[in-house]
Amino acid sequence: MVEEFAFDNSEERRRARANGTGWIEVIVGSMFSGKSEELIRRLNRARIARQKVVVFKPQIDARYSKKEIASHSGQKHDSIPVSTTAEMLSHISADTQVVGIDEGQFFDMEIIDAVNRLASEGKRVIIAGLDQDFMGKPFEPMPQLLSIAEFITKTHAICVKCGSTANYSQRTVDSEARVEVGAADKYEARCRKCFIPHSDAPTLHEGE
Ligand code: ADP
Ligand code: ZN
Repeated sequence: MVEEFAFDNSEERRRARANGTGWIEVIVGSMFSGKSEELIRRLNRARIARQKVVVFKPQIDARYSKKEIASHSGQKHDSIPVSTTAEMLSHISADTQVVGIDEGQFFDMEIIDAVNRLASEGKRVIIAGLDQDFMGKPFEPMPQLLSIAEFITKTHAICVKCGSTANYSQRTVDSEARVEVGAADKYEARCRKCFIPHSDAPTLHEGE
């Protein structure tokens, strides 16, 4: 049963199961684990099904392009950059059927009630985001979104040190800020064994 929901290959079944109401899907994992790829794949399929799709990203994330969500592998999808949950809601109309959200960890806590309401109104809401910060701590509001979601997908990267399943985003630059926007220039995927929480990480810069 879990496998059935792991990948989005049955819109009809999911719809029937949800008894005509909307629902929340959350995609979580470390950096480079394929969250954005999976989100873009689901959004493309919804568009092929001629559903009215609207996609958001937090304004804070200006990594690859301003108006699109993008995966590390180069896939893109149009999106609307927003600074707050309230601003996001102002772009959603009654006939919107699918709401996509990337980098959910950078949204304010109002996103939790907002997506609950959207799902109760009949919309399919798909949110991708980091479940842990660079210290390996739960990255709000993702834990709360995981609790209220009907469907959860955990994605994994490959540890760049040893090739195992990676569950952590290792920061490779000196910064204690929780939000430090970057990609391969500042982070790498690591497994539990190879991950070093940042406070212990000075050795990283001395040829760890
Ligand atoms: P996320 O949104 O989780 O950060 P993306 O969907 O943007 O991930 O990117 C996933 C892609 O990143 C993979 O398909 C692969 O091409 C690339 N990639 C780069 N480094 C790694 C890694 N260490 N493990 C897995 N994929 C990686
Ligand atoms: Zn490893």
